[in-house]
Amino acid sequence: MSTISVAGAEIDTRHYIGGQRVSSAQTYTNTSPIDGTFLGEISRGGQEEVDAAVAAARAAFPAWAKLGPQGRGVLLHKLADLVEENNETLSQLETMDNGSLLRSHRRGVMPRVAMNIRFFADWALNDLHHEPFETRGHTNNVSWDPSGVAALITPWNAPLMLATWKIGPALAAGDTVVLKPAEWTPLSASFFAELTKQAGIPDGVFNVVQGYGKEAGAALVAHPDINRISFTGSVPTAKVIARAAADNLTPCSFELGGKSPMIVLEDADLDLAAEIAVEQYDNAGQVCLSGTRIFVHENIADEFAKKFGEKAAEIKQGDPRDENTDIGPQIHQVHFDRVKGFVDRAKAEGQEIVWGGEPNEELGGLFFKPTLVKNPTPGSEIVSSEIFGPVLCMMTFSTDEEVIEKANGTEFGLAAVVVSGNKEHAKKITDEIVAGTIWVNCFFVRDLRAPFGGSKKSGIGRDGGTWSFDFYADVKNTVVSPNGWKE
Ligand code: NAD
Repeated sequence: MSTISVAGAEIDTRHYIGGQRVSSAQTYTNTSPIDGTFLGEISRGGQEEVDAAVAAARAAFPAWAKLGPQGRGVLLHKLADLVEENNETLSQLETMDNGSLLRSHRRGVMPRVAMNIRFFADWALNDLHHEPFETRGHTNNVSWDPSGVAALITPWNAPLMLATWKIGPALAAGDTVVLKPAEWTPLSASFFAELTKQAGIPDGVFNVVQGYGKEAGAALVAHPDINRISFTGSVPTAKVIARAAADNLTPCSFELGGKSPMIVLEDADLDLAAEIAVEQYDNAGQVCLSGTRIFVHENIADEFAKKFGEKAAEIKQGDPRDENTDIGPQIHQVHFDRVKGFVDRAKAEGQEIVWGGEPNEELGGLFFKPTLVKNPTPGSEIVSSEIFGPVLCMMTFSTDEEVIEKANGTEFGLAAVVVSGNKEHAKKITDEIVAGTIWVNCFFVRDLRAPFGGSKKSGIGRDGGTWSFDFYADVKNTVVSPNGWKE
């Protein structure tokens, strides 16, 4: 069976290559993390399907590149319209597939998916220019030319949202695309492929190869005929991809993991701080940006802990399709076991688990309770490794210098949160923190005009505005003589 029915729509679970549905000899079973419901048999691609997809993308490239930002923009806006029209189907699919909140998808995520596509289409048309400048009477003209086939590899925690941060700029830049979604969340990409067809995007411009990272993913990133690799996922996978890319010197953009600090200064509004701290449990902790290391000034630590405890007690864990649910399950049994393993080892080491620390027995399945570890031993696994589950660590500090050193004392540099009631004080801290994004007295605000990405091991490169096009395009400088274009 290669189709499933969700929210009144038929979803084809085969690959999408050159505008056709293509099956593989092998499939794998996809189930919902909410309750284990069987969702479908998914085509399991490998070298053969990747070769076909890259060939289709290569064949479609010249015409797509020639269409120009205006022609591409018309089709991309049509695609965004279709995402909006199919909000309900996409929302239900994504919730069934990855267990995140249905209400968030309906009201936040899917509108953002459409916006991601519109934003980059418009940016390519209206904002991608550099004023010509002169060198001894010669004029430098910078342009962003389509670069070829972009290989996109994406994770499961926000499948379509994160995919469209890549698909939007890649297609707007004039590249053609082969997308390999995460094996645990294949469905929204499959349905999205259908929408590209309905939007009139020519066959071969957008392709999806389903399957495992070690099979389809590995074949894709090692392919000699791709021009860009854009990857969002974990540090260990990025290292494997970088090695494969090295053979062909394929440019890579990496959005990777984090163990971000949240710093509550002595002058902070503690109600606001507690509210922001509780948000770090969003998506059951499966958010790369989460401020999972909470540093609180020692003079306010008890009061903050009390307020945080009160707010955390209000978190409703349950079925993500329920409007009142705040957090759902972990994505998959393998991931659930990984999260539980971290917490079990922390317990065995004698770390202080203040609340949670165990599966939610009432709900069963893949639900793990929001967990707080207090004053973990510096350098211990629980406070230094990315867990990617609902597990936060809380520690105290006494001086700015101490908290800056501790906050930066990790291999990651993705994000940070600073809560303070004093501008100079907050600025002193943000100036010293190494991170791609820092939020002051807020969390999770992202404007697509702004750069997004990670420092240190949290990534290579930045997404957003012209930064995205710097990666997906071949940036060119045409230098024209003082006599102009003619001799
Ligand atoms: P992962 O690295 O296990 O997998 C990510 C993708 O890579 C999947 O599609 C997988 O199939 C593929 N893959 C695996 N092995 C591969 C290989 N050898 N060659 C090519 N592709 C391969 O990560 P995950 O568990 O899916 O996602 C969680 C990680 O993603 C966390 O570390 C999280 O912090 C990170 N993440 C980062 C951001 C960001 O924007 N910085 C956003 C979301 C998630």
